Amino acid sequence: MRDFSYLRATSLDAARQAAALPGAMLLAGGTTLIDLAKCGVAEPDSLVDISHLKGLDRIAVDERGATLGALAKMAHVADHADIKSSFPAVSEALWQAASAQIRNMATIGGNLMQRTRCPYFRDPSNFPACNKREPGSGCSALGGVTRGHAVLGTSDACIAMYPGDLAVALVAFDAIVHLGDRRVAADDFFLLPGTTPDREHAIEPGEMITAIEIPGSAAARRSTYLKVRDRQSYEFAAASAAVGIEFEADGRTIRDLRVALGGVATKPWRARAVEAALKGKVLEPDAVRAASLLAVEGAADHGANHYKIELAPRVVARAILKMGETA
Ligand code: FAD
Ligand code: SF4
Repeated sequence: MRDFSYLRATSLDAARQAAALPGAMLLAGGTTLIDLAKCGVAEPDSLVDISHLKGLDRIAVDERGATLGALAKMAHVADHADIKSSFPAVSEALWQAASAQIRNMATIGGNLMQRTRCPYFRDPSNFPACNKREPGSGCSALGGVTRGHAVLGTSDACIAMYPGDLAVALVAFDAIVHLGDRRVAADDFFLLPGTTPDREHAIEPGEMITAIEIPGSAAARRSTYLKVRDRQSYEFAAASAAVGIEFEADGRTIRDLRVALGGVATKPWRARAVEAALKGKVLEPDAVRAASLLAVEGAADHGANHYKIELAPRVVARAILKMGETA
């Protein structure tokens, strides 16, 4: 690990100015950054510690929606009574992420900024070829072990899977990322790899996430996050789905549906084709299973990750049907 300087920021402006300097990185809970520094992926010249900034850990919920401060801890948001009742999928996504110890340390802003778990990305000494780490160096995963890699949103340059859970629920419910005064839709905040996989987020030097806003809706109130993984805890998703549903007064016809996928794409993946196919229809198992296949339209596998193309629609269908049972 290289030497770096450490600055404890005392104001938002001071943090932004310090973070704009070349080689500077923000430090929140440290649960991702310290790992990346240890394995040689992150090589900061200076760390700007924002964890003591006042007021950025606020969680506010009213009838219009929720605002989560960037420094709110994952555990606090997951356990917040109003988040549980107004945004169950958000709470469930957080509860199923990482471990209790990590959730107690880690922040919402840091969670959104987490990097891929692609093993080649995280092992620079053995795998120098990684376009995400070193643009133009190639991709060690292509032709390598691809079981955990993405099947949606990939490019010739990178097939790394986006690993987070919270962001899947945020994309489903049209959340907005606050970068100080600038606002970016969560769906646009996460970038496709294209030819520049090193650029993962729509955030500019000197900007930081200050809050996340989630509009309230009936679909968000009746929502769930279903995560399928190799073991039941402390594991990233093989495939996951955030689903929210609003019924007409008959309790069977779908008025509004939100579906987003995790574990299978290069970014949190909104499945709008599934939503469009089922809106206005009566919730019925065969129709749900048929529409859920649209979640993987355009998917391309790389051998060992083929199972995700079969698994993802099943996860989507199961989550939608589960919400139907609660109607
Ligand atoms: P830090 O480590 O402090 O920062 C992470 C990155 O975000 C850094 O680049 C930092 O500069 C940047 N950053 C921090 N705050 C801001 C801000 N406000 N604005 C802009 N940039 C910022 N996550 C899941 O979703 N699901 C899982 O199942 C899961 N499993 C995990 C298992 C393990 C073993 C580990 C180590 C992590 C796992 N995680 C999982 C990821 C975990 O949720 C993240 O490590 C955590 O959320 C990061 O938050 P942090 O505050 O510690 O960020
Ligand atoms: Fe790097 Fe992406 Fe290839 Fe993984 S999949 S080695 S992150 S370029």
